[in-house]
Amino acid sequence: MTENYRPTKAVINLTAIKNNLTYFQEKSGDAEVIAVVKADAYGHGVLEVVETVIENGVRMLAVATPDEALFLRKHGIDIELLVLGATPSQFIPIAQKHNITVTAISLDWLSMAAMHVEQELATLKIHLKVDTGMRRIGVQVDEVDEAFGFIADHDFDFKGIFTHFATADEKDSPLFNQQVNAMNTILDKLNNSTVMVHVSNSAAAIMHPNLVCDAVRIGISLYGIAPSPYVGEEMDFNLQPALSLETEMIHVKKLKAGEALSYGATYRAEQDEWIATIPIGYADGMLRGLQGQDVLVKGQRVPIVGRICMDQCMIRLAERLPIGEKVQLIGRQGDQQILIDEWAKKLDTIPYEIPCVLTKRVPRIYLRGAEFSDLSFQKSDKMLR
Ligand SMILES: *Cc1c(COP(=O)(O)O)cnc(C)c1O
Repeated sequence: MTENYRPTKAVINLTAIKNNLTYFQEKSGDAEVIAVVKADAYGHGVLEVVETVIENGVRMLAVATPDEALFLRKHGIDIELLVLGATPSQFIPIAQKHNITVTAISLDWLSMAAMHVEQELATLKIHLKVDTGMRRIGVQVDEVDEAFGFIADHDFDFKGIFTHFATADEKDSPLFNQQVNAMNTILDKLNNSTVMVHVSNSAAAIMHPNLVCDAVRIGISLYGIAPSPYVGEEMDFNLQPALSLETEMIHVKKLKAGEALSYGATYRAEQDEWIATIPIGYADGMLRGLQGQDVLVKGQRVPIVGRICMDQCMIRLAERLPIGEKVQLIGRQGDQQILIDEWAKKLDTIPYEIPCVLTKRVPRIYLRGAEFSDLSFQKSDKMLR
């Protein structure tokens, strides 16, 4: 293990991930839970997350890029692995060699792949992506017959078919219903029961458990984050946030009334104030837009004051405190909790972005077998399906 001489760290509670996974496994019945671990498991650290989900029954992983898939294979992960995004021609034989399933994103992609498969290697495993309304990647609905025909005429191992919802996290979305209908029409034409069908992301798995099909693709909520405030409010389970972010005060001093601090001298003390400097800044993912955001000190909220620097920022204390005092940036202290959602709101973005932009400089420390006592496991008396 590498040493860290700076107290700033992200603590990842793997038990929380396990508990969130259990919720989706119970809710989805016999369907597979495909753990989506793209982007370094949404910034949580892919190898540790993968180890946890495999120990707890996951049999298939999804990543975004060919490189992410290869990284897992090179680290000895041998379960089913699906690349959700595009793969280039050079990767086709590599996918065959490493048993990596790739996504057929268009008719053009299918022709390209057919030309690059190597006959002496294992048959290329593909999932066909259908664009039912996201308009990102996938064969168009009216191209599906042609895609089925092309796949049947060529040497592919046709393992799965899927689509992706654009608005599953919204209330009463007409587009969502259109996408469901389009997919149903396509599935009526698919008379191959060995092909795995999957449509749901976290939001759809939570809000529309009737759509589970053969598998669900769970990303954000595996990490204990609600896909949107609407889903967070509606859901029948308290997700358990896996990531917390903490540091310690490295310097404490009195700012005299009228004195200013940090770049631009934009913050000025109205009276004598105790100010602590903490070693975290925008190069860690503590973006400048978080100026004014609260942090937790001794179970109380105190604000970040002045501009956030690259490596450090300042907070205003209610009293003088010693160097080394703990500061919770995300997570819980006493009765107070700062969720990733609060940062997202402050930054006018979605929670997905927050853990993804916590940079490599922040070490991830893993809690295994830790009890998750902060939140009750069950949110309400609503029965799980
Ligand atoms: C990222 C991704 C998911 C996971 O979505 P969440 O909202 O994080 O659960 C599922 N499917 C596809 C195609 C994705 O790109």
